[in-house]
Amino acid sequence: MSTTTEDIKSRLNIVDIVGQYVKLQKAGSAWKANCPFHQEKTPSFNVNEERNMWHCFGCGKGGDVFAFVMEIEGLEFREALKLLAEKAGVELPEYHGSGRPAGETKDRGLEILELATKFYEKQLWESTRGQAMLVYLHDRGLTDESIRTYALGYAPDGWRFIFEFLLKRGYAAEEIERTGLVIRKTNNQQPAISNADPSQPPTSAYYDRFRDRIMFPIGDILGRPIGYSARVAPGGDESQAKYINTPETNLYHKSRALYGLALAKQSIKETGRAILVEGNMDVIALHQAGLANVVAVSGTALTAEQLGILKRYGKKLALFFDMDKAGQAAAWKSALAALALDFTVEAIALSSGKDAADMNREDPELLRVAVTGAKPAMQYFLDALLQSPDAGSQEGKRGIVERYAELLAAIDSELDRAHWTKVLALAIGAEPRVVQATVEKAFRSMQKGERFVESRPVGTFLPKTFGRRSEVLREGLVGLMLASPIAREVVMLETDTAVMDFLSLHPIFFFIRNNPSDPVAAIEDRTLQSLASDILFRTLELPSLRVVEEEREEKIAGIVGEYLRDLRSELHEKDERLELGRLIEVARQAGDKAEERRLFETFARLTRGDASQNE
Ligand SMILES: [Zn+2]
Repeated sequence: MSTTTEDIKSRLNIVDIVGQYVKLQKAGSAWKANCPFHQEKTPSFNVNEERNMWHCFGCGKGGDVFAFVMEIEGLEFREALKLLAEKAGVELPEYHGSGRPAGETKDRGLEILELATKFYEKQLWESTRGQAMLVYLHDRGLTDESIRTYALGYAPDGWRFIFEFLLKRGYAAEEIERTGLVIRKTNNQQPAISNADPSQPPTSAYYDRFRDRIMFPIGDILGRPIGYSARVAPGGDESQAKYINTPETNLYHKSRALYGLALAKQSIKETGRAILVEGNMDVIALHQAGLANVVAVSGTALTAEQLGILKRYGKKLALFFDMDKAGQAAAWKSALAALALDFTVEAIALSSGKDAADMNREDPELLRVAVTGAKPAMQYFLDALLQSPDAGSQEGKRGIVERYAELLAAIDSELDRAHWTKVLALAIGAEPRVVQATVEKAFRSMQKGERFVESRPVGTFLPKTFGRRSEVLREGLVGLMLASPIAREVVMLETDTAVMDFLSLHPIFFFIRNNPSDPVAAIEDRTLQSLASDILFRTLELPSLRVVEEEREEKIAGIVGEYLRDLRSELHEKDERLELGRLIEVARQAGDKAEERRLFETFARLTRGDASQNE
């Protein structure tokens, strides 16, 4: 890493940057928040302003401001650099990707998918069969402009169109396969049955995954295609699955992907609200009707990861699902997930048509009116439950309370929970007290089932799992060096080569020695950044470091001295043990039983001493 990154870091305040994504609260000299990278209810995510670092004791992630932006925006280092340079007002020199090799393949994958998307688009607009697809899309109410904005395409009916197109562009079969565009035939396995001409079986080991389908590219947060949702061509082989998606690849993770996000994020930010719909076609229809803050999930239930991404742009979520049983069940599930993450959840009812796309075709104004009429999800679902035919009977009422309790239990805020419990009691004409008891029971049983990530104890520094005492000492020294320039100075004066050699074996020590002014800035690898932040934040929790500023440096120098002394004797004792082992072997071969026993006792004493120090 270069002085450019140091320059950028020095101009940015990590608290400002992180604060744009998570709600930080001051706790002493630290800033804390609920971690955006794992689900939790008590904050174990820490930001240290003075050291320009962040760390989560719950999931172990951490690092500098670059690591944070990479993690939360799903960016590579180079992209994070660009983004932060802009924020800092620093001009970037030409960057000659010295990045990690994984980044390189990611870039190649993105290139492949960009080319493929253009290929599919060309097929849609220019091929004969593509014309039929356009007729269908127009029939569904989509305009040419929408079709181009969302880069819809058509995958032609054949085995090797996209594969050969990309081979000709110079990409290797393996890297094409990694994008999910093609499937590799395994031995004795016929390719999946398709409506392609069966007299033309694929001769190569690879064949196109998407054949005779309308292609909806799924983009990342910057709008670059990372995968596809592909609809079977109307008039094609309708016995095939209606939609198939790109499988999990190193670019496409269905639990993170949100269809239409790049085109929606600005509008979500402005309105504070995301509209979640069921289908890709609904996303495009709403956008066309002037509602740009709309996204969909593809082939999965709404996940906590997707909600975490949406929360960066807005805290309100409006569910706009089909009115059939499956649609409403999916809306209920999504509401549970979003309520648990403290979203303000609303629900929108379709007043006509099968889905939002239908409604748009009928009259876009209807769509806009429907969205304006969004109700709080808690009200929406209560109304729906009250519609059940036996809602008037005692039995029916009990059923409603039990069902509704599931939603109540998901609500994060106690105040809101109390409010909706009262609304429920009023609606069914029951004693609020009785309803409350039922709800609490449901709430407790949910909490029991809840998976929670236990925070790692921060009071206990250097857990035994770090292994041998010498390794514990080394970890301690690395932590102190990350925390303080004094520690770095003292350690660098160490003359015992065994100690220095042993320290050099620690992965972080390399960066401390080579970039003493800002060791963490030199680490590009995310795992190593997490390791460094973990060691640093645990060091900062050391009781002996919680002293007033003026005494701290002196205290640190003292501890470093102690650790170095211990490490010296530890390492030389190890030599001694090796030497003893050698002498024991010599005595044994010479048949000197008395000498062997004497040496062995010394050896045992040394080892016991070691073990007791570890207690
Ligand atoms: Zn975490």
